[in-house]
Amino acid sequence: MAKRLENKVAIVTGSASGIGSGIAKCFVREGAKVVITANHNVSGGQKLATELGDDNALFIQQNVANVSDWENVINETINRFGKLDILVNNAGITGKLTPIEDEPLDDWQQVIDVNLTGNFLGIQAGIRAMKTTNKSEGSIINISSDASLVGFPFAPAYSPSKGGTRLLTHSAALSLAHRGIDIRVNSVHPGWIDTPMVPKDIYEEIIPEIPMGRLGTPQDIGELCIYLASDESKYATGAEFVVDGGIRA
Ligand code: NAD
Repeated sequence: MAKRLENKVAIVTGSASGIGSGIAKCFVREGAKVVITANHNVSGGQKLATELGDDNALFIQQNVANVSDWENVINETINRFGKLDILVNNAGITGKLTPIEDEPLDDWQQVIDVNLTGNFLGIQAGIRAMKTTNKSEGSIINISSDASLVGFPFAPAYSPSKGGTRLLTHSAALSLAHRGIDIRVNSVHPGWIDTPMVPKDIYEEIIPEIPMGRLGTPQDIGELCIYLASDESKYATGAEFVVDGGIRA
């Protein structure tokens, strides 16, 4: 049986750990070549690339908020794998956990730079690469959050950055669809997922809020991303996909 992402090339940002690494593993399992990026945890990114196989994966250090880093990632991807079919804008940070009136401006700015501007730069770079290397076809997946649908009280910049990504997804999808460009853009909204981002000491407090009684796994998000990255989702664009164990039900 053919694998679902056979002959496809993907970039997954922030994939040295957590959800991104789950997505990268799922993509390789389904036949894709994957570029793993992250701004820190270089050894984790290199280790994952080795684990997935040098023929299948490449690690590149990248700050998603930096334009020239995007140029480098796109150039390296094309040099190594020849084209770009799939971009997953996954890299993200929560910022300081503080009451909103105490939020330092530089923390706010950093969260917006990484979570929102980083996705905007990725969408621009991804579209340009898909136009020149992939007949203007492709799939862009933005990892937003349940926190884009309701406010997250502890980290003042997080929900605004994820809400921005949600509507950036709608705008990008419409901009492309209205011009007849077959690059789809969708967002994924995870609930609580077991990754380094979620402190272990709050598990006891959050599990009772999850109807399915457990946190999700990176693979739970990766499986949905296979669908969105593949041709199976060819009529889905500008849509929001919630994977949260029933929290928003
Ligand atoms: P994580 O901390 O394991 O992963 C975040 C990744 O982003 C890391 O690999 C980190 O190196 C990378 N990163 C951070 N800043 C970067 C930058 N400037 N440039 C490039 N890479 C950068 O956490 P995670 O939970 O796997 O988070 C992945 C995504 O999922 C994030 O966007 C996060 O907001 C989102 N999310 C997570 C949860 C959750 O419960 N874990 C829920 C909803 C959404």
